[in-house]
Amino acid sequence: MKFEQYNFIAPLKRNLQTLGFRKPTDIQFKAIPPTLKGEDVLAIAQTGTGKTAAYAIPTIQLLSTRSAQKEQYSTRCLVMVPTHELAIQVADVFKQLIAGIGLHVVGIYGGVEQDKQIALLKNGADVLVATPGRMFDLASQGYLNFKRVEILIIDEADHMLELGFINDMEQLIRRIPRDRQTLFFSATINEHIKDLAYGLVRHAVRIQISPKDPVSKNIDHSVAFIEMDDKRFFLERFINENPDSKILVFVRTKVRAERVLKALERVGIQSQTIHSGKDQKERSTIMDSFKSGKNRILIATDVSARGVDIPNVEFVINYDLPEVAENYVHRVGRTGRGNQRGKALSFCSTEEKEILTEIETYLSKPITVMTLSKGEYEITVDISEESEHDWKSLLDDHQAFKDKKKKKSKK
Ligand code: AMP
Repeated sequence: MKFEQYNFIAPLKRNLQTLGFRKPTDIQFKAIPPTLKGEDVLAIAQTGTGKTAAYAIPTIQLLSTRSAQKEQYSTRCLVMVPTHELAIQVADVFKQLIAGIGLHVVGIYGGVEQDKQIALLKNGADVLVATPGRMFDLASQGYLNFKRVEILIIDEADHMLELGFINDMEQLIRRIPRDRQTLFFSATINEHIKDLAYGLVRHAVRIQISPKDPVSKNIDHSVAFIEMDDKRFFLERFINENPDSKILVFVRTKVRAERVLKALERVGIQSQTIHSGKDQKERSTIMDSFKSGKNRILIATDVSARGVDIPNVEFVINYDLPEVAENYVHRVGRTGRGNQRGKALSFCSTEEKEILTEIETYLSKPITVMTLSKGEYEITVDISEESEHDWKSLLDDHQAFKDKKKKKSKK
C-alpha cells in the first residue's frame, strides 16, 4: 500500500512526497493504523527502520484534525529522546512533515542557551521534542508544563535507561495526564524496559520488527580477518576503491580515532573524527560536514553510533569490533536507512575473535566471512601509499643517497 492511498490530510501527503517517502516501511505499516485509532503502541524497532516517521506521521494527522487546545508553555505532543543530536533530528523530521499544516514544533535540549527555547514555548507548542535534562530544567522554572499533553512518545527507551534517565521518566509519568495516548519505542528489550513500558502504556498494541535478526534486512554485513597492524592498509584500499562513497569508520577509543586519522593523512586521505573528546559545537560542525558530504570519511567512537540519522552512508567499517555486542547493531544501523540498502564490513584481528563470537551469539547467526586470499592480503599491504613512507623505505632511501655520494667522491 502506498502513502497516497492513506486517508491523510492533503499537505501531509504532499510533504511525504517531497521527502520521497512513497510507501511505508515495515514499522510504519504496522504502527500507523493503531496510532490513528488512538491506541497505545509498544514497538521494538531498530534504528534505521523509519521509526521516527512511524510515530510522526500519525501524530501529525491526529493533531491537525483535532481542535487545538494550546496553552502557554505547554505542548500537545511530547517526544522524549535521550540525546541532543536525536532531539535535533527528530524535530527536523516533524518540521519537514508539518510544512504548510500550521502546527508548531519546538526542539529543546541542553548545551545551548535556553532563552530562545523559552521564547518558542511562550505560546505553547503542538509538538515538543525534548531531552530529559533541559526539559525538567525549564519545567522547574515554570517555562514548561505537561497539563495539555495528548500524546506522549518515548523514543530510544533503551538508550534512555542506559543513560540513567529512569527517575526522570518516572517523575514525568506522574505529571502527565492519565488519559493521554502513549507510543513507546525501543531498539532492544529486556526486563527493565518491559517494566518501564508497562508502567506507561495501557492495552498497547505490540509491534516487533524482525525479532530474530536485529540487523535491518537492508544491510549486507560481513567480516574480514585482518591483523591489527594491517588494518590501516585495508582501510586505505577500501576508501580508494570507493572514491565517491560516504564511509563511516568505527573505532574503540578516541585515541584510536586520532591515530587512524593520522594514518589516513599520511597516505593523502582527508577525514574527520568525532568522539567524546570534542565539545558539542565541534561535534555538530563535524556531523554537518559529513551529512552534507563535504567530508566523506568520518571516524567515530560508539558515542555517536546511536540514533543519529546520516543520509546516504554507503558503508560502515568496523575498524575495531565493538566491545559490547549490542553496539554492533547500532553501528551497522548507520547505513541502509529507510528503504535504502547499505553495506557494513568489520575488520577482525586474531585478538578480536572472541568478541566476534559474542556478537554472533547476540545476532543468533554467523556473520558472512569475506575471504581474502594470502596474495590479496599481501598486495593490499604492499600497494599502500604508506609503504613508500615507512621507516624501512626511509632508511633504504637514506642508504641509497649515501651510496651515491660515496660513488661521486670516488670519481
Ligand atoms: P529512522 O529509523 O527514523 O531514523 O529513519 C531512517 C531513515 O529512513 C531516514 O533517513 C528516513 O528519512 C528514511 N525513511 C523513513 N521512512 C521512509 C519511507 N517510508 N520511505 C523512504 N525512506 C524513509
